[in-house]
Amino acid sequence: MPTLNRRRFLELCAASALLANPAAARGLRRLPAQAEGTYLPWANLAPGVHATIDQALGGNSMVITSAGQALLVDTKFPAFAAALAREASAFGAPVTRVINTHHHADHTGGNAVLNEGVEIIAHAAAAERVRAQLDRYAGAAKGGLRQIDMARPTADQVLAEAQAAAEASAAWTAESAAPDTAISTWPHELTVGDERVVLHHFGAGHTDNDLLVQLPGRNILHTGDLCFNRLHPFFDPEGGAACRGWSAAVAKALELCDEDTTVVPGHGALTDRAGLQAQKHYLDALWDHVAKEIRGGKTKEEVTAMTWDFMDGLGFEQARARAIGAVYDEVLAAG
Ligand SMILES: [Zn+2]
Repeated sequence: MPTLNRRRFLELCAASALLANPAAARGLRRLPAQAEGTYLPWANLAPGVHATIDQALGGNSMVITSAGQALLVDTKFPAFAAALAREASAFGAPVTRVINTHHHADHTGGNAVLNEGVEIIAHAAAAERVRAQLDRYAGAAKGGLRQIDMARPTADQVLAEAQAAAEASAAWTAESAAPDTAISTWPHELTVGDERVVLHHFGAGHTDNDLLVQLPGRNILHTGDLCFNRLHPFFDPEGGAACRGWSAAVAKALELCDEDTTVVPGHGALTDRAGLQAQKHYLDALWDHVAKEIRGGKTKEEVTAMTWDFMDGLGFEQARARAIGAVYDEVLAAG
């Protein structure tokens, strides 16, 4: 049963848009259920369910708290992981389980910081990819020190935590960030206190190890990076990205949604099924346009320089040409 009515949902969307625009947020008197005094901007989606939406800090994380248990979805970058777990635990229970929606370092970067006493759960195909990213995690741990925004609440504490992560990173091994529990059958159900959590995998899309995290009792769906809301999607063919599979996975995700579903995208503001529909439209239009240009004899260089109406006004411009190039290769390979 949905706990979030339409009006409340629109308030949340407005709030998450404002979080991306602090100047606008200053003029707002009634922020809906924002946690106060935290470094990360937390939005309360439903009783016991909070998400933090912030483009600068890696993928969007969500924490589910119920009856003395807490589970965190995605761990952002190493520098912010201790703050993420500390603030998530303040909602009522210490975080003892983590789900990684996929292996990318902006979603698993905090694993090595949090793994002591925390069970990390991921798709079976994520484990080897995570083990192969040790250099990336160590680099992010050190580079993250420069990303601390000292104007935010509790910045001194976050800086100290980031320094500790940077120092600890010298001793990290390939196992430090690796998942403890590999999931390979779907859907996979678990419980957090009284809350039912369902993990879905619909084949290779954004990567070959995408998980969606569904809270049926709250009508909330965290899509991981299967949804980039109002942003160009990041394509990683080496990580298993597949435009056709991605579109098919989003179609399956839409089957989990009704008109009241809150969708937490991997990147971008909170949305609903319209955000997923827009993602599917982007992927389908991209495939069709690129295929047409290939039939017309255009080279990869020519096509990656192009843009089309469906791309207008989207963020992550730096991901645009990469997305076109990846789909160019995929269309050619499909014959
Ligand atoms: Zn990703």
